[in-house]
Amino acid sequence: MTIEQLRDLVRDVPDFPRPGIVFKDISPLLAHPTGFAAAVEALAARVSQHESDSLLAVESRGFIFAAPVAAQLGLPLHLVRKAGKLPHRTVGIEYELEYGSDRLEVHADVIDPARRYAIVDDVIATGGTAAATSQLLRDNGGVLACYAFVIELGFLNGRDRLGEYPVESLIRFE
Ligand code: AMP
Repeated sequence: MTIEQLRDLVRDVPDFPRPGIVFKDISPLLAHPTGFAAAVEALAARVSQHESDSLLAVESRGFIFAAPVAAQLGLPLHLVRKAGKLPHRTVGIEYELEYGSDRLEVHADVIDPARRYAIVDDVIATGGTAAATSQLLRDNGGVLACYAFVIELGFLNGRDRLGEYPVESLIRFE
């Protein structure tokens, strides 16, 4: 599968969840076994270029891609979740949304200063979620290897918020 073929499996849904937002719907990609497998394989190749040795998957669609990448690469998978979802002791970070704020958490025992973490999500839009995840990791002594996204909304310049770390994306929309 080419990147162009993968791009054709992402559906634009105008005015979702709010007027003016064009939602990038990955449902057709997930429903296409060859396309999904190709996306996972390509994402795994990008993650492994940066000597990543653990994955941080961002709730919730990040889980869909990070899990098979972790299995394919034989790497530990850790979940970054919204407040109150993780059962064990957590560390967290508050971050600003367009309207209001939110909180992301990870189990405190997954951050090991000796390991390099890749942050995986389906879409980078403004970069706020990924930047907060990175801050959470680094505030707790973790080392960031790279960010890896299936889809990048290039026109929102989200990667400008992600510092000097490598940013990988498979499908870029301008
Ligand atoms: P951001 O923090 O602005 O980079 O937004 C990233 C998160 O919001 C990701 O976890 C995406 O799943 C979701 N997201 C933001 N904008 C879109 C969009 N236009 N289409 C699909 N998902 C989006």
